[in-house]
Amino acid sequence: MPSVIINHLLEENKKFLNSGKNAVYHGLEAKQTPKVTLVTCSDSRVPPSLIKEDSINYLFAIENIGNQIKTTEGSIDYGVLHLKTPTLVILGHTSCGAITVSCGDYSKETPGIIKELDTLFNDISEYKQLILEDDKHYFDKLSELNVDAQIKFAMDKYSHLVKEGKLAIIGLMLDFTQVYGENKGKIYITNVNGETDVNNIINMPLLDKIDKNIHVNIVKRLVN
Ligand SMILES: [Zn+2]
Repeated sequence: MPSVIINHLLEENKKFLNSGKNAVYHGLEAKQTPKVTLVTCSDSRVPPSLIKEDSINYLFAIENIGNQIKTTEGSIDYGVLHLKTPTLVILGHTSCGAITVSCGDYSKETPGIIKELDTLFNDISEYKQLILEDDKHYFDKLSELNVDAQIKFAMDKYSHLVKEGKLAIIGLMLDFTQVYGENKGKIYITNVNGETDVNNIINMPLLDKIDKNIHVNIVKRLVN
């Protein structure tokens, strides 16, 4: 099985070379100028390619369990402060295993997993009071609130850049379980620069370029 997988991976690279898309590297041999520092969950159902298929020199992507900042803080600082990407995007998702597991007994996991789940547990603990324990969408709401928690931490770190208009911090939720009510795989904006009021977000000048005829109900939250 692994040999088949290795072959498949190499075939994908061959396809890339044959497509001529590798021309994108011209001029990028010694530098990169990405537009987005992306923090997303490692979950295989949430590939960065979902928000940008051709992501070379566009996405500076950091993936970890639970789309956390603190567990990979240096990488995110590198994107925001060193590469100076004008946007920092935190992409969470519905049906997130990290969120669910962090709410239970994970003491039998490996020390490495425990360390990352502890960070997640601490980040979201104060947000749990916003949801009723018997809410059937408890964990999805908590995933949305985890994006809020990550953005709160990012706003504390990078607020000077946000105030100067050099950085926008965007919270997104990928919904492949239709909890938000629309198609599987749709992405919603849930937080902009710490603002979580849907009406306030919709009226932000930052969203002026979004074609509201195409992206209907693009700003939506489970927890209001
Ligand atoms: Zn996840």
